[in-house]
Amino acid sequence: MKKTVKDIAVTGRTAVVRCDFNVPLKDGVITDDTRIKAAIPTIKYLVDNGAKVVLLSHLGRPKGEPKEEFSLRPVAVRLKELLKSDVMFVKSDRVVNDNVKSLVKQLGIGQVMLLENVRFRKEETENDTEFAKALASLGDFFVQEAFGTSHRAHASTAGIAEFLPAVSGFLIEKEVKFLGDALDNPERPFVAIMGGAKVGDKIKVIENLMEKVDSLILGGGMTYTFYKAMGYEIGTSILDVDSIELAKELLEKAKAKGVALEFPVDVVVADKFDNDANRKICPVTEIPADMMGMDIGPASIERFDKILSEAKTVVWNGPMGVFEMDNFAVGTKAIAEKLVESEAVTIIGGGDSAAAVEQFGLADKMSHISTGGGASLEFLEGKVLPGIDVIEDI
Ligand code: ADP
Ligand code: MG
Repeated sequence: MKKTVKDIAVTGRTAVVRCDFNVPLKDGVITDDTRIKAAIPTIKYLVDNGAKVVLLSHLGRPKGEPKEEFSLRPVAVRLKELLKSDVMFVKSDRVVNDNVKSLVKQLGIGQVMLLENVRFRKEETENDTEFAKALASLGDFFVQEAFGTSHRAHASTAGIAEFLPAVSGFLIEKEVKFLGDALDNPERPFVAIMGGAKVGDKIKVIENLMEKVDSLILGGGMTYTFYKAMGYEIGTSILDVDSIELAKELLEKAKAKGVALEFPVDVVVADKFDNDANRKICPVTEIPADMMGMDIGPASIERFDKILSEAKTVVWNGPMGVFEMDNFAVGTKAIAEKLVESEAVTIIGGGDSAAAVEQFGLADKMSHISTGGGASLEFLEGKVLPGIDVIEDI
């Protein structure tokens, strides 16, 4: 178990909190403030319990130089509205300097300050010790709340914890609890659903999950590389040529381990990559040479539903079809609805999978939607995430 803000004395002490305020901006205006909202409970907890709060984050890719368009100023403005209290924003190209240090010293109980984008300094991504030390010098303890960058060993996500006691915020606590329990201590049957576009991105996740699950369902664009590896005609379906050999190895590994991989038995094929394309349902063994697989078919949905209805834990990464087009969103939507109906703990990882569930209006019906795309994939691969590793154990 990792320590959280509740396991450390906070009153009268200064917390340095690494948040993920990497929000989308258009002409200086925040177009989606989900990530800012997500950090509010932790900030509020610290404020309400008498801490002084210094917030750190990155935004975009300024590549180690100060660039006005990546300034965190708009985030400070939005934070102020959400917290309904003042948030001091310190404009500093160097992120930390003597002025910043003295302003932090003057912070009162319950006051909140946001520093400038940590990636204005190249030392951030280099995990430079001096920069990490300078950030650490601002506070008495470190709070990790940026799951989306926790797979990176940067100065503000990992290096800083060498100089300060580190605990997790509530967001990280939830991520580690759901993803960690699923991998280490799942209620069974444990079913994983893997989909999405490219096998290459997901091979390691499939390999790791194969060892842990009772059933592994595969769907979406990645399956065509497996079908190719099995020697089927896949027509003009999406193919990850570089991964055919890896797919073959994976199929052999699964066989050797006695793991049943559940592939779709039928697919919806189209004559072009377009919502209005001509389409039909066919068995996976009969994909016409001039058509492409765009979604899983009704027989597959029925088979997957049956497996899912018994599940007690489900991890889902990657859509079953081209869900961005209504005519090919059926399979993905059916699986999402099945998960809503199920009593299992349901965990969604991956940016597009989360977007799909969001699009169907079913997001709040899942047990947990992971906030980190790359980070949740690395977690599911079984990797140690540096930003999580530095958090002290209870
Ligand atoms: P995630 O972000 O959830 O990890 P991926 O990025 O791996 O998922 O894949 C999502 C993309 O896969 C979506 O844009 C979707 O349109 C695409 N996709 C799913 N099935 C197919 C298919 N049969 N052909 C082409 N693209 C597909
Ligand atoms: Mg994606």
